[in-house]
Amino acid sequence: MSVILSARNLSRIYPARRGSITAVDLVSLDIQVGEFVAVCGRSGSGKSTLMAILGALARPDHGTLRLEGTDLLQLPHRKLANLRSHRMGFMLQTNSLLPGLTALDNAALPGLLAGKSHHHAYSRAQKLLTRLGMGERWDAFPHELSGGQQRRVSLARALQNEPALLLLDEPTSNLDPLAEEEILKVLQELRDERKLAIFAVTHGDQLASLADRV
Ligand code: ADP
Ligand code: MG
Repeated sequence: MSVILSARNLSRIYPARRGSITAVDLVSLDIQVGEFVAVCGRSGSGKSTLMAILGALARPDHGTLRLEGTDLLQLPHRKLANLRSHRMGFMLQTNSLLPGLTALDNAALPGLLAGKSHHHAYSRAQKLLTRLGMGERWDAFPHELSGGQQRRVSLARALQNEPALLLLDEPTSNLDPLAEEEILKVLQELRDERKLAIFAVTHGDQLASLADRV
């Protein structure tokens, strides 16, 4: 197997009014192509901070980070944004669907931003929504969807540009058991296909049980 993401000695220290908070403390980690890695921890243990750093959405105070051999912390802003858009897919902890766009538009957007044709981005968005059981609701706006349905649209959006690495921040939290089951089923399928690496942070056991490594 080959390494897709390699992190060494990552740290993030937030300044606070009284002292400082070490949210990520010297984390080193390799993720292999096709591997599913889960990180479990309680609320406040630094999971979201770690995920944001691994996805190059936030900068660490120390450490190095390479994606497919490229040093992400040395890349100019534009190149980094371009690489992120083409190679990584994100599902953040807070719902980040754009409220004024339909499910289909939300799922197509990363493709359009990455320079795909309208036809290509929209046909892939349609295909992904259908696969995630949201084909019938393509014209719904986020506020018209349940929490679980919004997650599935977010996942379709994350998969739009066929990422090599999918980063998920508590993708099953605050869902009813059925909605959780549906998301887990899709993640299980993605894992079994082994076409992308998955990094998920979670405080749930069920999601972690799908992972190759916890
Ligand atoms: P988790 O996702 O595991 O709940 P977080 O990464 O969100 O944890 O937070 C880790 C720690 O860092 C917590 O103690 C949190 O209060 C603190 N923290 C997170 N973001 C900030 C910030 N922007 N400024 C200061 N402290 C923060
Ligand atoms: Mg969090």
